[in-house]
Amino acid sequence: NLSDKLDKALHVLKGHGQITEVNVAETLKEVRRALVDADVNYKIAKDFTSIVKEKALGQDVLKALKPGELMVKLVKDELTKLMGGDVAGINLSGDPSIILMSGLQGSGKTTFSGKLANFLKTKKTKKPLLVACDVYRPAAIDQLHVVGEQIGVEVYSDRDTKDPVKISQDGIAYAKENGFNVVIIDTAGRLAVDEVMMTEISTIHKAIQPQETLFVVDSMTGQDAVNTAKSFNDVLNFDGVILTKLDGDTRGGAAISIKSVVNKPIKFIGTGEKMEAIDVFYPERMADRILGMGDVVSLVERAQEQYDEEEARKLQKKIAKNQFGFDDFLNQIQQVKKMGNMKDLVGMIPGAGKMMKDIDIDDDAFKHIEAIIHSMTLEERTQPSVINASRKKRIGKGSGTSVTQVNQLLKQFDQMSKMMKMMQGGGGKKMMQMMKG
Ligand code: GDP
Ligand code: MG
Repeated sequence: NLSDKLDKALHVLKGHGQITEVNVAETLKEVRRALVDADVNYKIAKDFTSIVKEKALGQDVLKALKPGELMVKLVKDELTKLMGGDVAGINLSGDPSIILMSGLQGSGKTTFSGKLANFLKTKKTKKPLLVACDVYRPAAIDQLHVVGEQIGVEVYSDRDTKDPVKISQDGIAYAKENGFNVVIIDTAGRLAVDEVMMTEISTIHKAIQPQETLFVVDSMTGQDAVNTAKSFNDVLNFDGVILTKLDGDTRGGAAISIKSVVNKPIKFIGTGEKMEAIDVFYPERMADRILGMGDVVSLVERAQEQYDEEEARKLQKKIAKNQFGFDDFLNQIQQVKKMGNMKDLVGMIPGAGKMMKDIDIDDDAFKHIEAIIHSMTLEERTQPSVINASRKKRIGKGSGTSVTQVNQLLKQFDQMSKMMKMMQGGGGKKMMQMMKG
């Protein structure tokens, strides 16, 4: 019956002017570029977009009313998944729980040690002890003491030895004797990965067997962060990542790459120099950040617009060559419907309001128009001039309308084609833009 036929046609038509396979690929190319711009490793970005592409084509994106939005949602969901999906906590089951910090110099270990102690003290009612194992610069020990004073957390240090293993063990013994239930061990880092640093951190790691080994990384270091993470993970098999300095305009793409390469959860982020600037890592929020700052949303929308513009250009060509047919008319109706209120739209077209005042422009009118067009043969759609009286009768019957209604549509179509042709000059493009949806 008619309604079935309509449904079938719309089913096909809805793919029109929206996302197609080509379009999905184009859009994802933009997404990939945005990810790489946000410091995501190229191969990871590539794998990522091919997963999204598969999902996009598998799902009903092609039939969605707002495919752009759906694509953004798909991208966001996959990003979230890529960064770990759920929030990862830290293991505080030890007595005391020992947390070892690792990472390059300047990554934010000392600052984060203070932040975490403060966080545990206030949020989790724990009694943390900070232990200063950066023995190479006297200033490093002072720095931890300053931090400890700020947050009211005791700091264990020993300026008489240069052995970080001994200090960490003594610190843990001190914690046990004095009722501390969390021990946070701040260590020395070097400016780049080297043997000395790796040997030292892995010796400490073996000696104290921490419940949590955290790798601290400056999110602004971009691609380098991935290599550093890999080196530390090879030696320590750490439990989690701390991403610092996310308060700047860094895009956080490092988060994706690190998670993908070492497959360890990101547990906390640092968002400033102050002790309060610590946040639990939420993969979904990071996805929002990456999408927002990489401007993927607008990229997707732009790709969408480009597609529609291409359609509009094709249409203009057809009009110029007198090839504008009912299928195009139908397509235009679909586009206009996507845009919402047609009365307002028509009003926006200079001079069109008067010319189109005869057209009944509520949704029911669309239904009739669509039904009539669907009852036409291909020949009739492309060459409306062949529609004679007997064809009109047949079309009317097939579409459940009257010959009068068919005549009305033919007249409107004729007017519209004429108007489009007329507006081909200066106004034509503008009008096409308004109608494209
Ligand atoms: P460490 O060498 O790994 O111990 O690094 P530090 O904790 O000494 O931090 C190095 C520099 O980075 C210091 O100036 C900190 O104030 C700064 N820093 C650490 N974490 C953050 C953060 O999350 N945001 C900002 N803006 N600065 C940070
Ligand atoms: Mg330090």
